[in-house]
Amino acid sequence: MSSPIGHSLAGLMIYRVVHGPTSGMAWGQLALCVFAANAADLDFVPGFLSGDPNRYHHGISHSIGFAILFGFIFSLMFYLFMRRSIIKYFVIFSGLYLSHIVLDLMYIDTSRPYGEPFFWPLSPVYYYPSFAFLPDIRRSRESADFFISLFSLHNLWAVTIETLMLVPLIIVIWVLQKQSSASVLVGPLQSGREGYDSGREGSSHK
Ligand SMILES: [Zn+2]
Repeated sequence: MSSPIGHSLAGLMIYRVVHGPTSGMAWGQLALCVFAANAADLDFVPGFLSGDPNRYHHGISHSIGFAILFGFIFSLMFYLFMRRSIIKYFVIFSGLYLSHIVLDLMYIDTSRPYGEPFFWPLSPVYYYPSFAFLPDIRRSRESADFFISLFSLHNLWAVTIETLMLVPLIIVIWVLQKQSSASVLVGPLQSGREGYDSGREGSSHK
């Protein structure tokens, strides 16, 4: 599994893509994106309350079926309360949730169950890809020392690796968006200027 920092960076990346190249940050939207990108790990909560945080972790919450369900519930709420496009927000919220499941697949799983039931409900089989290469976040199986176990040198190393991988991608997206927004602005200005210049040339030949 990835850390909440890795999932939050993935949420930030999707926020940048959805929000577009406009300046400034819509903090409420960003917070919602970060929440949706981390939502699958809420499966720790029932296990944590029962003394075994990993009991329900990487169950059906980490599947395409749950990503679709999550997208459906949130897009329906956006439609009912704010009259937003149900299709657009279904794609955004399902995509945010799915980013979590896909990112988790890139981590070397060191605790049971290995992998995720990625294609649930189409298939209950756990999928653990051979391309997993990132160091996973290690934690205690006991609720009593679960949080303290997260603060280890290994996990610091894992967070550093995922940050070094994801932050450059966010910067590239941000720079590309800035360039594209600049060309969108400069394009009409230049063509307007050319029209103005050609008009002046035309009048000077008379
Ligand atoms: Zn997860």
